[in-house]
Amino acid sequence: MEKIVSLAKRRGFIFPSSEIYGGLASCYDYGPLGVELKNNIKKAWWKKVVQERDDMVGLDASILMNPKVWEASGHLKGFVDPLAECKSCHKRFKLDGLKDKNKCSECGGILTEAKNFNLLFKTFMGPVEGDSAVIYLRPETAQGIFVNFNNVLQSSRMKVPFGIAQIGKSFRNEITPGNFIFRTREFEQMELEFFVKPNEAKKWYKYWLKQRFDWYLDLGIKKKNLRLREHGEDELAHYARSCFDVEYKFPFGWSELEGVADRGDFDLKQHQKFSNQDMSYQDQDGKKYIPYVIEPSAGVDRPLLAFLVDAYEEIKGGRTTTTQANKEQEVVLRLHKDLAPIKAAILPLSKKEPLKKVAQSIYKDLKKYWMVQYDEVGSIGRRYRRQDEIGTLYCITVDFDSLDDKKVTIRDRDTMKQDRVAISALVDYLKNKLD
Ligand code: ATP
Repeated sequence: MEKIVSLAKRRGFIFPSSEIYGGLASCYDYGPLGVELKNNIKKAWWKKVVQERDDMVGLDASILMNPKVWEASGHLKGFVDPLAECKSCHKRFKLDGLKDKNKCSECGGILTEAKNFNLLFKTFMGPVEGDSAVIYLRPETAQGIFVNFNNVLQSSRMKVPFGIAQIGKSFRNEITPGNFIFRTREFEQMELEFFVKPNEAKKWYKYWLKQRFDWYLDLGIKKKNLRLREHGEDELAHYARSCFDVEYKFPFGWSELEGVADRGDFDLKQHQKFSNQDMSYQDQDGKKYIPYVIEPSAGVDRPLLAFLVDAYEEIKGGRTTTTQANKEQEVVLRLHKDLAPIKAAILPLSKKEPLKKVAQSIYKDLKKYWMVQYDEVGSIGRRYRRQDEIGTLYCITVDFDSLDDKKVTIRDRDTMKQDRVAISALVDYLKNKLD
């Protein structure tokens, strides 16, 4: 983990938040490469669950919602973690995560009885700080979907089974955040609610478990590092009838990336009760019912960490050339092509004209299609290594022969194979590889 955290900071993936003021506990900012990686993860998810399907539509609901939503959803009462405090050092712990539930893991002191601690972030809306103005930062994006169920139905002519997908920020006042971006108080989620006939819920639950598990494998996560784990009765969230976690083998142990839950008709029924609006669905044959919901709920930050960890590879002794500079250890980030922040780097062998002009013109051309970088600083070996370390898929070298044959050398990050390609055919060559 230390190596990942250090690479993330050094190369501009992830920075501590407001660092010049000493940071803010467990808050992070995504840097120039981090935001590309994050966007690519969200794009890959959206493409798979919305764009490529006929039975899914998207939504972008407001983070701030009428507080009644949280009463109806059960979060005001039920979204709690058991919190215990050390009587000696006053550190607070989430009881669930503790091996010894009586003893402080920091100083060995005795812990108080656990109290229920609500994870909702409270804030005030408008200029008056009073009870009437209390609102909450959403702890999940899902409720924005449930409260828009009728709006989507009426405006999009979807028929059950169908789903609504959404990506956005969520906030939880976690008692013990930690493990870098794994558990933070502000994070992003990719959630979808799939509405089905009650008697088909089991079938769709199975279906989504496989879909979601395979998504991580398709994006390059190694199978040995991924597993499904079923929740025990005592672990189930207040709304869930059953739940599986997709877990990744992080350096700190197997931990959740995504939960796939059977929420039954809990949420729509609750909103029907609290809002007095009819939340039922009428089938073509006139039958009315409240659909059941299968919910795959993924984070963005946790999968991002898993993709980084899984892609990270150290190569002892180097691999690029035999020169002294490259005999040191090299790092290659073998990110999937859809996720790599930079798709290609254009590297002129000399930073002088006329090579520079040729390389710059290739750079400007490729920029129209993909995130690419231009780098003329340092030896070619060092430049390859800089790109390998951030997962760049292709290094395009412009050499002196390029002036005559109008071709460049393209090196593949993973196979190290080099192809000589006509400059005029570059876009097609890369399209072929990247699409
Ligand atoms: P945990 O048991 O680890 O607290 P959870 O089961 O409460 O997680 P869910 O409510 O199922 O999490 O949320 C769905 C997804 O949202 C999680 O799988 C995770 O990827 C992400 N997520 C939830 N809480 C956090 C957090 N504090 N920081 C980062 N991501 C989070």
